[in-house]
Amino acid sequence: MEKDKLRLLVTTQCPNKCPMCCNNSWDFSKLPVVEHFNYKEIMITGGEPLLFPDELADLAISIKRIQKLVYGNTGKLFLYTALAESLPSNIRYFDGVVYTPHSAADIPKFLEVNDFFLYYKDEFAEGNTSLRLNLFPDIKKHIPESTDLSSWKVKDMIWIKDCPVPDDEEFKRVGKLWERI
Ligand code: SF4
Repeated sequence: MEKDKLRLLVTTQCPNKCPMCCNNSWDFSKLPVVEHFNYKEIMITGGEPLLFPDELADLAISIKRIQKLVYGNTGKLFLYTALAESLPSNIRYFDGVVYTPHSAADIPKFLEVNDFFLYYKDEFAEGNTSLRLNLFPDIKKHIPESTDLSSWKVKDMIWIKDCPVPDDEEFKRVGKLWERI
């Protein structure tokens, strides 16, 4: 039986080299290729999708158009990323984002981007844009305690070995994974 949520892999490329990365344990060539977008939630993931902003915008616009024309505009589209600096110019394509800094070096950029999300907090709330911030303990300690994280729904994270797919999700890929040579 098909499920309500789709986790959609668009690339395996990523600037980070996290030791517990799911890419180390999955054989992505064996993932089924996505055939439709009739899901209540679609989560675009990688690798790092924001390495490919043009492809990402095209895909998000296409999915939204198909959802509206074919499926009655009921689906939500989310982006999973670790690239904070590209969020302000790309958040408009999505119903929400899950941002997960993966190293202490990500935090200065995140703090800049956090100011952007604070400035437009009311607009994002009005548009029901979901902003989720996943924090591993060794990353969280680099965020100054005085930082206003009120734009975000913060979730404390731990690494989970082999990245099991939740029961209510399907995990599929685009036909040709995005890559730069
Ligand atoms: S940021 Fe994510 S995709 Fe990239 S190496 Fe780390 S865990 Fe893997």
